[in-house]
Amino acid sequence: MGYDVALICEKGHVINDSMREFPEANKDYCPECGAQTISSCKKCNASITGAYVAPGVIGGFDYNRPAHCHKCGLAYPWTAIPNTEGGKDNKQSLFDQAPEGRMLRQSTRKKYQVFVSSTQRDLQKERNAVIEAIYRLNHIPVAMEMFNAGNTDQWNLITRKLDECDYFLVIIAHNYGSIHPEKVVSYTQLEYEYAIEKNIPLAAFVIDENASWPTTLIDKTNSKKLDEFKSPCRRF
Ligand SMILES: [Zn+2]
Ligand SMILES: [Zn+2]
Repeated sequence: MGYDVALICEKGHVINDSMREFPEANKDYCPECGAQTISSCKKCNASITGAYVAPGVIGGFDYNRPAHCHKCGLAYPWTAIPNTEGGKDNKQSLFDQAPEGRMLRQSTRKKYQVFVSSTQRDLQKERNAVIEAIYRLNHIPVAMEMFNAGNTDQWNLITRKLDECDYFLVIIAHNYGSIHPEKVVSYTQLEYEYAIEKNIPLAAFVIDENASWPTTLIDKTNSKKLDEFKSPCRRF
């Protein structure tokens, strides 16, 4: 875990934000503008901070090239370029292009399937945000609203999907949710318990009891059951 080293051209094009991890993407000259590329400060020789690399963590992190040396504070050559010069060449949009190193990292990195468990109606906004975040990290969200149980038993379908997942993520607010007719436990809790049983790495997001929440989304029907379910989840 830590920062890789970045290779950036003197005009500011990010050539590679992870030089150590993907040395094959390194270049002596910028393919965009032909300027020389640098990976360290000209004054103190400190490496230019690259992408944050955390093995085992889902997804990558967006990289923004630094403006100044973290060690001696010297402005990098691109920082001195006035914004008025060069038109499009100075626009942020150009720098927004994903550097080759990161493209490689995303294409070579395994895609993980992340099961998103929660009640539906009261947490639709939160589910959508999580699903979108998983997509943005180049992984695959698995949410039950994406599947039609059809004739298959609902719980059967859920366990089949869970078996394929690499991570399990549960969101809990103030609604215990619908209950499995035979097991007398909510589907969300069943999914959680199944993930524990199968040793699927788990993340739980439990609402803070003091957070304000629309009363229309609070269901007190099974509040005792919900509290009992929430307390072990807070450990994650
Ligand atoms: Zn360049
Ligand atoms: Zn420096």
